[in-house]
Amino acid sequence: MAFWEDKTLAQMTTEEWESLCDGCGKCCLNKLIDDETEELYYTNAACQLLDHKAGHCQNYKHRFKFVPSCTKVTVENIESLTWLPDSCAYRRLFMGRDLPSWHPLRTGSKEAMILAGMSVAGKVTCETRVRDIEDHIVLWPMKDAQ
Ligand code: SF4
Repeated sequence: MAFWEDKTLAQMTTEEWESLCDGCGKCCLNKLIDDETEELYYTNAACQLLDHKAGHCQNYKHRFKFVPSCTKVTVENIESLTWLPDSCAYRRLFMGRDLPSWHPLRTGSKEAMILAGMSVAGKVTCETRVRDIEDHIVLWPMKDAQ
């Protein structure tokens, strides 16, 4: 049995926990919340530390030094991180779902994740170039797939 099927999130080792991240990069996108409806909107304006072509953080180890507002996903805060996409492995497991067929832990690489349209690579712009964030609202980060 795979560790994510056998263990709770709280029982996982640090290495197992880190390996759950599929590397999609969606959590690195700026999001908006409608004041009236509280609806969440994703934008294609990415964190300035994101490598836009590769779709991953350029300095993951020291990211808090450069972006203090970055959120570390932990077993303690996963319940409150409702802005993570439905496709996110942490949210999926927290919600009692399984990992999707395209997840790197199942396939051994990020290729299937990219083919499933989950990666932000090549689809985003740097937040520092954005004038009106509302012009950058996109729907594709909300996509989920088995
Ligand atoms: S949204 Fe979840 S799975 Fe995707 S990069 Fe962020 S933490 Fe990893």
